[in-house]
Amino acid sequence: MQDTYKHKGLRKQLIDELRQKGISDENILDAFNEVPRHYFLDLAFEQQAYSNQAFQIGAGQTISHPYTVAFQTQLLNLKRGEKVLEIGTGSGFQTCILCQLGAKVYSIERQRELFIKSNAIIKKLKLNPELFYGDGYKGRPFNAPFDKILVTCGAPFIPQALTEQLKIGGILVIPLGAGNVQEMQRITKISETEFKTENFGDFSFVPMLERTK
Ligand code: SAH
Repeated sequence: MQDTYKHKGLRKQLIDELRQKGISDENILDAFNEVPRHYFLDLAFEQQAYSNQAFQIGAGQTISHPYTVAFQTQLLNLKRGEKVLEIGTGSGFQTCILCQLGAKVYSIERQRELFIKSNAIIKKLKLNPELFYGDGYKGRPFNAPFDKILVTCGAPFIPQALTEQLKIGGILVIPLGAGNVQEMQRITKISETEFKTENFGDFSFVPMLERTK
């Protein structure tokens, strides 16, 4: 897989588009410049990799819109060195953006095919997230607590394990809703029992798959 001048030029255009749509964090825009999105797409879609679109990545799943990735990342208020748990590795693109921003990333994928595929792509990029094949509803109790948790599939409810595995002062970003449309929520953990919830409008994600029995 090559990263040509053409790809780099298209990335700059995408970054301008993200800026126009309201992504103002320059660190995030820089990360989009560093991570070649076309590596995460099947060859058939390579030419369109830098348009603001979602694409099929196999197993009936999609890589999120670049704007959605940037928007969710911005909601996390990420600082270098923070521990982040991602639910839904999918293509691995969002995972790499988080790594590029200096986070220590743990990411869980429920579908084996995608877990294997994203592993192979991420290895080539010299970023070092910890990738797990497992059930996002359970989080990663062994690696908890986390500064930030990011859910990248539509969750029918807030999994209790995730709020439990968040540090006090930590942030959970989650698209919440059982149908085709979810509301983007940012939940800040104030204390073990108190949470602040902010809403950031409607988005459309593939559904968070059922828990393992
Ligand atoms: N961050 C990804 C988004 C992929 S779509 C990207 O940028 O490519 C959401 C992903 O969540 C899919 O790969 C899907 O298989 C996964 N997923 C769905 N339910 C899950 C669950 N319960 N636990 C972990 N991953 C899940």
